[in-house]
Amino acid sequence: MSKIFAVANQKGGVGKTTTCVNLAASLIASRRRVLLIDLDPQGNATMGSGVDKSQLAISSYDVLAGEAAARDAIVTTESGFDLLPANGDLSAAEVELLDMEGRESRLRKALRPIAGDYDYVVVDCPPSLNMLTVNALCAANGVLIPMQCEYYALEGLSALIDTITQIQRAANPELRIEGILRTMYDPRNSLTSDVSEQLSEYFGERLYRTCIPRNVRLAEAPSYGKPALEYDKHSKGAIAYLALAGEMTRRHAANQNSSRPVAEAV
Ligand code: ADP
Ligand code: MG
Repeated sequence: MSKIFAVANQKGGVGKTTTCVNLAASLIASRRRVLLIDLDPQGNATMGSGVDKSQLAISSYDVLAGEAAARDAIVTTESGFDLLPANGDLSAAEVELLDMEGRESRLRKALRPIAGDYDYVVVDCPPSLNMLTVNALCAANGVLIPMQCEYYALEGLSALIDTITQIQRAANPELRIEGILRTMYDPRNSLTSDVSEQLSEYFGERLYRTCIPRNVRLAEAPSYGKPALEYDKHSKGAIAYLALAGEMTRRHAANQNSSRPVAEAV
């Protein structure tokens, strides 16, 4: 069964898009079939994957609006993963979706015919708990939450977990917290260690062991429209995302073998 992850955190700048693009590239390097869905009107995942958001014939907006099939909107990137791209058109969807039939499950419905073509579907969410993020959470079976280990990071987390719990009860009982990912990690900072310890206590096994370090190559790569793995494959950032993909695929393999859920319900 394909794994569909929503990469979500309503805080901006925590590394959602960076995680989506680099995880997609790393899963491809592990020979998995990957679809990345850009669900942020800013289109950063689209540009960061080397696709020009101003030249899209069909985008994720058309798919959510029911005007195009997902298959027709998908493009294959130079990195080898497929992309359902986005641009500013999607900001209209935030409002238009409210009046649409089955407004929370439009992405889920659109993915049904194609999800089986992929091992992993990764959805880049906007920095808000809006209808776009709700669509991602209804379509997903796991939520990956990137977090910067800073004091205020924990504050927003409870709102996100409440939303996940509500969606789990009302629309998508399969939804699990797939994992918490520490991004822009600096172990020399004592606050980082404190927050990290709290996350470990609260989330236990669901906290990924892999931490993504602060690494300038990860910040530079998007301006070349490339994942770090192609921009500088020896960089610490590229290597960390490869490690994350490894940790993730090993978890899933163990999970399938034992048929015991690794990530428990929230
Ligand atoms: P979000 O999608 O959550 O808003 P981004 O992935 O766009 O966050 O990251 C915000 C900014 O931080 C971007 O400029 C990105 O290049 C940079 N960035 C993200 N992760 C790292 C990292 N590990 N090291 C250095 N810069 C990073
Ligand atoms: Mg983003």
